Amino acid sequence: KLAVLGQISAGVAHEINQPVAAIRGYVDNARVLLVQGDLPSVAGNLDVVTGLTDRIGLITRELRTFSQQTPGAPEPVRLVDAIDGALALMRPLLRASAISLQRVDADPHLVVAANRVRLEQVLMNLLQNASEAVADRADPRVKITSGAEDAGAWIEIEDNGPGIPSDQLERLFTPFATTKKNGLGLGLVICRDILAAFGGSLEYRAAAMSGACFRIRLGTC
Ligand code: ADP
Repeated sequence: KLAVLGQISAGVAHEINQPVAAIRGYVDNARVLLVQGDLPSVAGNLDVVTGLTDRIGLITRELRTFSQQTPGAPEPVRLVDAIDGALALMRPLLRASAISLQRVDADPHLVVAANRVRLEQVLMNLLQNASEAVADRADPRVKITSGAEDAGAWIEIEDNGPGIPSDQLERLFTPFATTKKNGLGLGLVICRDILAAFGGSLEYRAAAMSGACFRIRLGTC
């Protein structure tokens, strides 16, 4: 956990320093433009500053997840309830993107050690990533499956997007590793951290349906 925090602090310092330095530059420049009476350019600089502060806001919002009270001891959560909760919020987005959603619960009575809200956050994050990954597919598909194994339960979220190239795999759960234009690369790190707090895990595997597959493991209770 401390190692992850160290990585994140270094990453955050870097990610925030960049826009802060840029804001400083644009503001200094705006002052010169103001003296010259070039108001349209001043307005342009202010627009850029607004965009940069939005970016910083995005980073701090994501990080708030870490500073929120970590839930106490994991409590019993019915797996299907957490999946229902996440899907209730994500279905409109999936439908709007014409993504076909398949759901299979092998054992509807599974109860895992977790925190329902946090587990729903994790599922929504993975569903969001999956829906972004299939955006360019002619037949976009996302599948959520759950079942029991040995001493626990698992949930898999699969998609038929491009999957993750092998050279990206080793950095997949590293803060700020993103391939998206407006991505932060914190989602997977935070998901893994949340699950680890319940004694669970998050792993990547290639999906049977050709894209990515993220497998959550949790203890049952
Ligand atoms: P972000 O979504 O902000 O980039 P994440 O930590 O959630 O942050 O994801 C990190 C990166 O992992 C993404 O930028 C993307 O390259 C890759 N990734 C995550 N989920 C998928 C997926 N389902 N299919 C393909 N690539 C994915």
